[in-house]
Formats: sequence, C-alpha cells, structure tokens
Amino acid sequence: MTLHTAAGTVPLVIRARMAAGVAHGVPWGISLDGLLASEIRENTKAAAREVGTDYEPYSPDTVPEDLELPLARCPGDGGDRWHWAATFAFPEDEAPGPHVQYWSARPDQQALGQISAELPALVSERQGRYRSRVMPLPLTVCRHLVWRAVGHRAAITELLTPIVSIGKKRGAGHGHILSWEITEHPASDLWEFAHLHPDGTLGRTAPPACLHEHGHVPTGGEGRMGLRPPYMHPSRRTPVLLPAT
Ligand SMILES: [Zn+2]
Repeated sequence: MTLHTAAGTVPLVIRARMAAGVAHGVPWGISLDGLLASEIRENTKAAAREVGTDYEPYSPDTVPEDLELPLARCPGDGGDRWHWAATFAFPEDEAPGPHVQYWSARPDQQALGQISAELPALVSERQGRYRSRVMPLPLTVCRHLVWRAVGHRAAITELLTPIVSIGKKRGAGHGHILSWEITEHPASDLWEFAHLHPDGTLGRTAPPACLHEHGHVPTGGEGRMGLRPPYMHPSRRTPVLLPAT
C-alpha cells in the first residue's frame, strides 16, 4: 500500500491540550480529516455570508464533493474507496471511565403556544415529538487528544489554530482546547502515521486492503461507515474496518 504523497507532506503528530476532555456520541474519537473539512466549510460559509452569496449545505440526496485537504491520500482498496492519511483522535493521559453526564430537555409550553394557533390543552411530556428527554453524554476525560497524519504542517496549523473547542455540547463548555501542538516526524513510517494510533491499534476507518501485509493490527471489527468526510453522509456508508476502541 503506497500513499499518494504530494510535495511537502510529512508524518505529523497533532496534539490538542484539553481543558477537561471531550464529549462525543460514537465510541471512537473525532477524525482529523473531518475536523479539517468542517473548518474549510465554515470558512467558505463565512466568506459567502460576507459577500452575500448563497452557501450550499450538504444534502442527504446528493453525493458530497471531496474538499481538497492538506493531507496525503491512501488508495485503500482502489477506486472510490480511498481515504485521507490521518487518524481519529486518541486520548492521552486518560482518566479511566466511563464518564457519563446526563442532560435533560422539556418542551417550553409557552413557546409552543406562541408558535401554534391551536394548541391542545396539554402537550404530553411523556410521548410524541415533544416528550421530555434525558440524554446520556459520554465523556472522554483526558489531558491531550492525539492524531497522526501525513500532511502539510503549515496548512494544517493554519486550519486548526482558530478551533477552540471540538466534539458535542461545546456551548456547555465541553471539548475546550487550550492549545495545539503540531510536530513533524520525517523519519517515521508513512503507512503507520496514516492508519494507526500511537498504541499500534487501527486509528481510523479503513478498507481491509489497507491492513494487508502489516501483521496483526487490532481493530474495532467490521461495520458500515464512511471512509472520508462527511463521515455521517448516507452516501459515504460502506463496509469498513472500524477503529479500535
Ligand atoms: Zn489506507
């Protein structure tokens, strides 16, 4: 498996110093390529707002276009099944969990009254669309999140530096980032930095072909998920090996 590297791409370690940790809804960490792609989209959105033009959001019905990211590419098992050379987040100095917070939400009866001409005597809080909820929020409590990648250090630094929080419930203070540190490791193995966490386990979604000829790599088993951002888009779902958790 040979990576498609452009000039100036080198193995990188990207480390975010966290205030307290990060909240996420899936068992594995936040993808670096997803983070970079969403930052590029945010910048595009801001530019469109500035000049007053329309911005095209992702639609579930159309196949999303691949943004050009400052990362090398791994061909995967060929054709459309390639992926960016970057892992998902790996927690360092993690406080053993599980850590779960709960948040609750209930309908604001007064607000419902204002948006509806005919409100039933009681909007049930026990069933239906407006029921109250108590939702678990799994937290990873750690000092650092670490990603490995093969890419352009300067371009990645420029995209990541403005990001001050990641993950879910950022508005409630979760996922606050104190600083970013991006270091080059030119002598390191390209394949390893494109696929594996620092502990040697599979660090991202990958087609099985990626792991051929690399001995036993612990994974999170087989599943259907995206290989590239936007990972959650229905058209991205494909059989993959999942990252180890
Ligand atoms: Zn690969």
